Amino acid sequence: MSKYRTAKYLKSLYREYGPSKPMGMSLSDRSKPHYFLHRNFLGEQDLAILFNTKRCRYQCKFCALPFKSSSDWVSTEDILSQYLYVLQQVKHSLSVLERITIANEGSVFDVETFAPEALADIVRSTKILTRVRKLVFETRLEFIDIARLREVKKISDKQVDILTGFETHDEHIRDNILGKREPLDSFLLGLDKVADTESELTTYILFKPSPYMTDSEAMIEAENSIDYVTTQCHKRAIPVSIRLNPMYVSKQTPWAKLAESNSYKPPRLSDVLELAQEKRREGVKIYIGLTSEGLADTSGTYKGREDFSFKLLNQALQFNSKF
Ligand code: SF4
Repeated sequence: MSKYRTAKYLKSLYREYGPSKPMGMSLSDRSKPHYFLHRNFLGEQDLAILFNTKRCRYQCKFCALPFKSSSDWVSTEDILSQYLYVLQQVKHSLSVLERITIANEGSVFDVETFAPEALADIVRSTKILTRVRKLVFETRLEFIDIARLREVKKISDKQVDILTGFETHDEHIRDNILGKREPLDSFLLGLDKVADTESELTTYILFKPSPYMTDSEAMIEAENSIDYVTTQCHKRAIPVSIRLNPMYVSKQTPWAKLAESNSYKPPRLSDVLELAQEKRREGVKIYIGLTSEGLADTSGTYKGREDFSFKLLNQALQFNSKF
């Protein structure tokens, strides 16, 4: 055994800053973002930044993210300090970046939570990074303003990908179980705006979003949701990618309470993988969301199910690597 402890040091660094860098913490220091990572994202060099801004104005029943963020306004200067901090941290990687993901655990286009001057300044700065071809913005679709999005494309000279939660095609689950407050009609109006601006879409679909579902019902429901959203995107010529998210029990949410009282079992990763493989064979661009963002105990995730093994997890990671 080496006397220099190099491997031990590297292991602890890798755990802290590698792909499983923890993202569950809340930060009171407004000069730092919630999270950032330079990562290989499905074959692309991505810089993902979760800005620390005023919290999402929604409180969907399954989501604990807003509680992590500030209830007060976070100034343009503070947001830009967060950005500069990240740039400093990743300075040796700037020349290889191919995309930048801008998120704030809510909607970056909501002007009541993310200072628009800060966003414009960040976007403008990315023009310097000529290798970056795409900017990814996480937002609910209702906050897309066509003129503003066109301006974003113009000042950055990049392709735009809108990252948003679709979750399910089932209106009852959307409204009553998830509390999304986004009827299908308004999601479709949002898709029209995505199409108008020739943007791309990446959208989350929840696998087993109702605590009343069986495993086999979950399979059918997720497939119907994928088919629904891909059909709607194809009608509008929107390039679409699906992130299929195995539902997890996000602690202390109303959804978690409902799940506990119904002895809910999270989805089986083997089912999620099977559906994702089937859809990819049909030509859908799809990958699996394997993180619970530090918001759930292991037993409240697919890792708590009887089919789970690291071999299965590796198969899912392999699946994602061929995106
Ligand atoms: S799911 Fe999105 S819109 Fe709903 S509370 Fe969470 S961050 Fe806000």
